[in-house]
Amino acid sequence: MKPVPAKSGWVYLVGAGPGDPELLTIKAARLIGEADVLVYDNLVSKAVLALARPDAELMYAGKERGNHSLPQEQINQLLVRLAKTGKRVVRLKGGDPYIFGRGGEEVETLQADGVHFEVVPGITAAAGVGSYAGIPLTHRNHAQACVFVTGHLKDGSMNLDWPGLARKRQTVVIYMGLSGLSHLCAKLMEHGLPPEWPAAIVQHGTQPSQRTVTGTLATLPELAETANLRAPTLIIVGEVVTLRDKLRWFEEPTS
Ligand code: SAH
Repeated sequence: MKPVPAKSGWVYLVGAGPGDPELLTIKAARLIGEADVLVYDNLVSKAVLALARPDAELMYAGKERGNHSLPQEQINQLLVRLAKTGKRVVRLKGGDPYIFGRGGEEVETLQADGVHFEVVPGITAAAGVGSYAGIPLTHRNHAQACVFVTGHLKDGSMNLDWPGLARKRQTVVIYMGLSGLSHLCAKLMEHGLPPEWPAAIVQHGTQPSQRTVTGTLATLPELAETANLRAPTLIIVGEVVTLRDKLRWFEEPTS
């Protein structure tokens, strides 16, 4: 398929992957390089933004926990406005735009306002972190299913299907779970997973500052706290975590 250059007045919702710029798709890299304006989230790495044209306009629309710089509705309207001025707009989101990225809401607004758009998938944090931390998310001997959930706390607790998550032969990947880590581990044990069930938390996956802490449901909260990890972090729960000892390749070995 011959690539069609970015079109004026269009919005490209582009997955920027988990951080390492080499994990961008060829299409994402091309569109980033062609855009007149890029509207980006706080999870988009500097190395990815560096691929923009020197004269491109970079607009930060990021959200950090508790610091919503632009409400979602305003981001949606901004994209519509920019497109209507005839610019080639790239809306860059960390990971994949359709996995916990509110990409669906943004595209709904574009569609309702008659703005042309395309969506470019990206490597979601789970895939990037799994590979770079040496944790295959499925494995014939350990897990035949993998579930992605958000650990974002609502009113201090997580509203998740605990019996469905607390299952053996399954990997659970938790996005946005750092501040709810002890709650999460406690709930999984309460619903039947053993305290010695393996779990890991990975900071800044695929980036030079990647750090991984492994433990069990019983020990991980304290280990993570001692390690003083910084967001973004991803939590992986399941037997596959034990494979890391053999399969790790990216981080420097720790003592
Ligand atoms: N659309 C994104 C997810 C957005 S939600 C994706 O597909 O990856 C934001 C959460 O993603 C963070 O709180 C964190 O849990 C996770 N995340 C994103 N990038 C990450 C990274 N490089 N390392 C670890 N976790 C990451």
